[in-house]
Parts: sequence; structure tokens; C-alpha cells
Amino acid sequence: MSQLAGTLYILSAPSGAGKTSLVKALLQQDDQVGVSVSHTTRAMRPGEVDGVDYNFVTMDAFNALIEQGQFLEYAEVFGNKYGTSQRWVEEQLTAGRDVILEIDWQGAEQVRRLMPEAVTLFILPPSREALRERLNARGQDSDEVIAGRMAEATSEMSHYPEYDYLLINDDFDTALQQLASLFQARRLRQSAQQTRHEVLLEQLLSED
Ligand code: GDP
Ligand code: ADP
Ligand code: 5GP
Repeated sequence: MSQLAGTLYILSAPSGAGKTSLVKALLQQDDQVGVSVSHTTRAMRPGEVDGVDYNFVTMDAFNALIEQGQFLEYAEVFGNKYGTSQRWVEEQLTAGRDVILEIDWQGAEQVRRLMPEAVTLFILPPSREALRERLNARGQDSDEVIAGRMAEATSEMSHYPEYDYLLINDDFDTALQQLASLFQARRLRQSAQQTRHEVLLEQLLSED
């Protein structure tokens, strides 16, 4: 991939930790990054929009996409299938745009193997109680679904050591600031800056 290539970020968290809210807020203040819209077989929540929050598909359609080799990764989470479209991600990265994947740890494992240069971040809640409260407060899943997600939280959270960065989403604005700082810091890496400011660097180093 060329020097211009964007950075791929993988964000994982137990359901309800605040991953989607943080990413939405980040996108509002950072126009150099885009988020991949996954395909899923789960039912649409009230307020979700097809093609915006997810591409909602049937199990048959999902399986057809697997057979066509269209997914960069896919996994089964909470009894539903979720997958990342390979083409969109590659197009964005090649065009020099940063891309966020909001995917579970199984998907992260697959993408890390294919693209070891990806930057990985795990988001945790400040307590188990807060996680339960947030799942309830979101008010979009049934009690049964929430109980299932709480039950899965421990095994999901046990994967945090596999990630480069760890963020605790306690106070939302603080967490957002920390997330934004990570993106800014990555863009200041010398190799990236060298490409971005090629002309300036040449001018600065040329004698009058
Ligand atoms: P939420 O995270 O509680 O809002 O619940 P979602 O239904 O949006 O996501 C369920 C799980 O699927 C989470 O662990 C996501 O990280 C994961 N997930 C979402 N999209 C993808 C994807 O494209 N690939 C993979 N592997 N996991 C995904
Ligand atoms: P995820 O995408 O990780 O499942 P969401 O972004 O949907 O999580 O957040 C779950 C719920 O918690 C939402 O109702 C959201 O408004 C709320 N929430 C997110 N971050 C915080 C925070 N720092 N403090 C309090 N509530 C939060
Ligand atoms: P929800 O159904 O609440 O939107 O998401 C539940 C979980 O599925 C989240 O932890 C989310 O990260 C994960 N998820 C969403 N999209 C994908 C995807 O494309 N691939 C993988 N592996 N996981 C996903």
C-alpha cells in the first residue's frame, strides 16, 4: 500500500460500553475518518436506518455474500451474523482516508492477521453496574436480549489484552477527548507527516 494510505482502526467493546455513541461523536468533529457500515442478520432496532447503521440482510443473503468472498471478516455475535465489506474499506484506505471498524473480538482477530498495521482499541465501561444501566437506558433491546448481552460481557471483556489501546468510557466527554487524541497522535507520525508536507519539508531544507 502507498504512503498515502489511511489508517485502519479496529474498535471493540462489550455491548453497551458506548462504542457507537463515541464513534458517532468523533465523526462529527473529525472529517478525515469514516466508519464501515457492517452487514448484519439481526433485526433492526427502532430508530436504526438500513444502509446507515447497518446493511440489514437475511441469513440467505449473508451466506451468499460469504460465498462471493465479499467480506474482509465476519463472525457470529449474540446469535446473529455480522460482517465487514472488503471493497469499501480498501477503497477508503487507498484514497488516504482513515477507517473505523466497530467489530467484535473475533472479527478483530481476523483483520489483525490480514492487516497487522491496523490500530486496535478496546473500550470498557467504568463498572459492571454501569454497563447494565447503559444497556437498559438505551431502551432498544428486550430484557432477554439485554440479559444475554450481560452474560456475554465477561468473556468479551477478557479480550482487552489483545488490543493496542484501552479506553475506559466513564465520563463521556473525557472519553471522547481521549479517543480524538489517539486519532490526532497517529496522524502526527513522522512518516505520515513527511508525505503530507513533502513540499514544505523540501523548501525548509533547501538553502536560499
Ligand atoms: P451494540 O454494540 O450493543 O450496539 O450491538 P450491535 O448489534 O451493533 O453489535 C453486536 C456485536 O457485533 C458487537 O460486538 C459488534 O462489535 C459486532 N459487530 C458489528 N459489526 C460487525 C462486523 O462487521 N464484524 C464483526 N466481526 N463484528 C461486528
Ligand atoms: P455500544 O455501541 O458499545 O453497544 P452505545 O453507544 O449504544 O454502546 O451506548 C449504550 C448506551 O449508553 C447508550 O444509551 C448511550 O447513550 C449510553 N452511554 C454511552 N456512553 C456513556 C457514558 N460515558 N456515560 C453514560 N452513558 C453513556
Ligand atoms: P449490536 O447488535 O448491538 O449493534 O452489535 C453487537 C455487537 O456486534 C457489537 O459488539 C459490535 O461490535 C458487533 N459487530 C457489529 N458489526 C460487526 C461486524 O461487521 N463484524 C463483527 N465481527 N462484529 C460486528
